[in-house]
Amino acid sequence: MPLKDTFLQRYDVAVIGAGVVGCAMARRFALEGARVVLLERGSDILAGASKANSAILHTGFDAPSGSLELECMQAGYREYLQIHTRFDLPLLRSGALVVAWSEEDEQRLPGILAQAHDNGVDDVSLIDRKRLRQLEPALAANARAAISVPGEHLIDPWSTPLAYLQQALAHDAKVLREAEVASGDFDGEWWRLSTARGTLMAREVINCAGLHGDRLEHRLLGRSSFTIHPRKGQFVVFDKAAARLIERIVLPVPSERTKGIVLTRTVYGNLLVGPTAEEQQERDHAALDQAVLQGLIAAAVERIPALAGVPVTAAYAGLRPATERKEYRIENYPDRHWISVGGIRSTGLTAALGIAQHVHRRYAERHRHSAVETPLWPKLPNLAEHRERDWQRPGYGEIVCHCELVTRREIDAAFASPLPPGDLGGLKRRTRVCMGRCQGFYCGARVAELSAGHFTRALAEPLVANRRGGSHGKDHADD
Ligand SMILES: Cc1cc2nc3c(=O)[nH]c(=O)nc-3n(C[C@H](O)[C@H](O)[C@H](O)COP(=O)(O)OP(=O)(O)OC[C@H]3O[C@@H](n4cnc5c(N)ncnc54)[C@H](O)[C@@H]3O)c2cc1C
Repeated sequence: MPLKDTFLQRYDVAVIGAGVVGCAMARRFALEGARVVLLERGSDILAGASKANSAILHTGFDAPSGSLELECMQAGYREYLQIHTRFDLPLLRSGALVVAWSEEDEQRLPGILAQAHDNGVDDVSLIDRKRLRQLEPALAANARAAISVPGEHLIDPWSTPLAYLQQALAHDAKVLREAEVASGDFDGEWWRLSTARGTLMAREVINCAGLHGDRLEHRLLGRSSFTIHPRKGQFVVFDKAAARLIERIVLPVPSERTKGIVLTRTVYGNLLVGPTAEEQQERDHAALDQAVLQGLIAAAVERIPALAGVPVTAAYAGLRPATERKEYRIENYPDRHWISVGGIRSTGLTAALGIAQHVHRRYAERHRHSAVETPLWPKLPNLAEHRERDWQRPGYGEIVCHCELVTRREIDAAFASPLPPGDLGGLKRRTRVCMGRCQGFYCGARVAELSAGHFTRALAEPLVANRRGGSHGKDHADD
């Protein structure tokens, strides 16, 4: 080993990429007793695919039977249900309905039911038009029948990975942001990784780089086992009043390529319609398209006529790290001390904990540590509307964002937390500030004051960028 490497920081595991998968991975390995570093190129976590999704905790009822994806989803689902209360994370037990809107859709329902049973999701049932109307009276009259999936739930897509990572931090993991991994050398035992924040050594690398996972693999291993084909999903967020119109997640009968357009409440109290499934080359920016958004609004009104005229709060888009094949691309290279977690396309929020279990089992075939005996459970602030929010408790000081009722105390707590936000997007995801009807028009100046000195990039930049997008500034991929 070169003498200069003797002085470098050493870790058992370097996880590259702080999306939901990387955060769950860092947690699993820290709990298993490994010295972990998580390297993220963005100024905050969730800078890639994980910043924008539908926030559904899936049962796996319609996942490919016998697949690794199904195994990871169901393991992730079970673990989330076991641990969410320890972190104080919300769970909205909404259930879902796969609704048939045409005769053709209706003919496919028995097949969906059979697949759900094959996948071990036994509490699903076929319901007729009359029962469907009783359950969801706001659905349009052409809703013909449905499969009820009571186990599909809604979660907080941003506090969840943050909780995973905070637990990793509590068990001595290290997180480096603005630490893009540019290159690396492997000497048969150790990886020497060069990042934008310096060089470090790791015995094992776990590539969780999402939309850039193939490029990272190619750069460091000289080849890549998969190719990312980003698939954009645009969403429209209706005003909070609309969330009263449905109880359950309304799913379409899915196609080969996509789960299709979903109508769902969010834990934040909105009604969401989306996502689209649009192939694109660009990996970092998910542009919004007025015509597509209008199409989503029209589709939503077609399914729930009472949505006609309901104001739209925001629109946003996310990118799925899809590959040339449908399945997860988890590749183990034991002789290179490297595991790639690629192609976690459209179920990663659910599956992240299960993927981390799976990857740890592969790793444990070559390295073992003493697992943490008594895990620490950091509590996350609640942002869900169905539970008590901070403004409902005395002593909050000041309401900073009147649309989302975000308090000064919540913003201060975010900055004082073990992983403070690194940019405005991160502050929004931790508190919901600037994410309501006015999209920061009224509270932006106050947020800038409170954030002064906390971000590496001046706050004026993203606020201006958001304004350019008009009402579409929620948390789009240019944040
Ligand atoms: C429209 C849409 C809807 C979805 N709905 C759901 C849903 O309802 N339920 C569900 O379970 N899943 C859903 N998903 C899927 C889920 O969001 C993804 O599977 C998940 O976010 C993928 O996470 P990831 O950690 O693999 O990738 P990412 O979130 O992209 O994380 C990769 C990270 O690596 C970083 N990075 C990249 N290169 C480097 C480098 N060289 N050095 C350091 N860091 C690097 C990136 O900045 C990024 O932060 C949806 C996805 C989309 C897009």
